[in-house]
Amino acid sequence: MPLWLYYIASLCDGAIIERISKERHVPESPITKSGPKILTNLAQVNRRANDLAEQNVRFRVWVKFGCKLTDHELDAVVREVTDEVWSHIDCTACGQCCKALRITVDADDISRLSKRTGMGAMAFMRRHVREKSGEKYLAQSPCSFLRGNSCSIYEDRPKACADFPYLHAESFRERMLMMIENSFVCPVVFNTLEALKRKLAWNKK
Ligand code: SF4
Ligand code: SF4
Repeated sequence: MPLWLYYIASLCDGAIIERISKERHVPESPITKSGPKILTNLAQVNRRANDLAEQNVRFRVWVKFGCKLTDHELDAVVREVTDEVWSHIDCTACGQCCKALRITVDADDISRLSKRTGMGAMAFMRRHVREKSGEKYLAQSPCSFLRGNSCSIYEDRPKACADFPYLHAESFRERMLMMIENSFVCPVVFNTLEALKRKLAWNKK
């Protein structure tokens, strides 16, 4: 099994896979009636990401070494494609990143969240934070701040949550491995990768 699949396995425990397999639907958008299909069914996204894992690794190699766009040009295309895809996906009907991913937190996050929850930083850490290999992360999965599919501390959420799925950040080319990993759980990432293959006229063969 490739290394990055082990990483995915570490992110997704058995219960999460079970939740995904319950075929929950994020409502599909009208775009699916005409243009390329936007896949929003979480179980299908997970399955297709598995099916396309090898292809996505080849796409990554091409983006890194074959695509002639500069990093800046590529990032602009990724942002444009992401915005188009995201305009057809309702995150409040999904919430999968709050249920399936490990949310890292730093000192600023802990300070902000301990104030928000009215707890001292130490009490907040004991209750809500765990640490592994020097990395601090929110203890509960699904996240204990999730209410339905909405974040109950939205304005003060950790930076990792605010930035997810990192498709608007710079250096997409260097972060493609993470994108392939996130395509297993996030419809925005999965569909953006598929749309990018078309937009960049990548030859899959
Ligand atoms: S803090 Fe909010 S946005 Fe972040 S994982 Fe929890 S519920 Fe989701
Ligand atoms: S960012 Fe992705 S995983 Fe998170 S709620 Fe939106 S579509 Fe779902």
